[in-house]
Amino acid sequence: MITAERKPMEEIIGSVSPYRRILLVGCNECVTVCAAGGRKEVGLLASALKMHFAKEGNPVEIEEVTLERQCDPEYVEELLPRMDQADAVLSMACGCGAQEVARRYKEKPVFPAVNTRFMGASERQGVWAERCAGCGNCVLGITAGVCPIARCSKQLLNGPCGGSTSGKCEVDPDIDCAWQLIWDRLKALGMQERYEDNIPAKDWRTGRGGGPRRIVREDLAS
Ligand code: SF4
Ligand code: SF4
Repeated sequence: MITAERKPMEEIIGSVSPYRRILLVGCNECVTVCAAGGRKEVGLLASALKMHFAKEGNPVEIEEVTLERQCDPEYVEELLPRMDQADAVLSMACGCGAQEVARRYKEKPVFPAVNTRFMGASERQGVWAERCAGCGNCVLGITAGVCPIARCSKQLLNGPCGGSTSGKCEVDPDIDCAWQLIWDRLKALGMQERYEDNIPAKDWRTGRGGGPRRIVREDLAS
């Protein structure tokens, strides 16, 4: 899923302070799972903002709504009846959702209330970790299911650097060395000989190196 964290309150307050009628929009998907921008977080942020501006003697109206998905035009359209009453939109979705709202409602300023972080998985309650960098040409099949692009700090494709120590990455001892994880998995699978295979230099054009990307499915495109 896409992970996100709520921005600091001071930053959010600064972005919406010129406006008196704010449409606060959450998303029911990834940001709900990572507790950053779902219905509950929309309610908490709305209360905090109302309290802040009321204390300043400058009350605001905040309308709360949480869409099924904010990155999908079909659901973003549901905001239309509320837009006339809004001076600005505060989006609690990831950057994809916030951009979709901005694209659809060109006349309204849209501000992000969260910082979008990475594609990750839940490690345990309240902890998410990066797992995929969307490189566009997945190598998990030859790295025993551990991603060296997202999980190795140097994105090394052919074994660890010299900084790997006791299974930890030299960048931060709290980070597992991706290549240690790959080796451990290869051993567990009895596939150690794979470690000798040379992974060719990666063609980064399928990743961000090729500029903004699109997927066009001719069988589905209208
Ligand atoms: S190899 Fe690429 S697509 Fe596969 S998990 Fe890693 S970053 Fe994601
Ligand atoms: S210590 Fe491991 S994870 Fe860290 S940069 Fe080196 S090879 Fe990559």
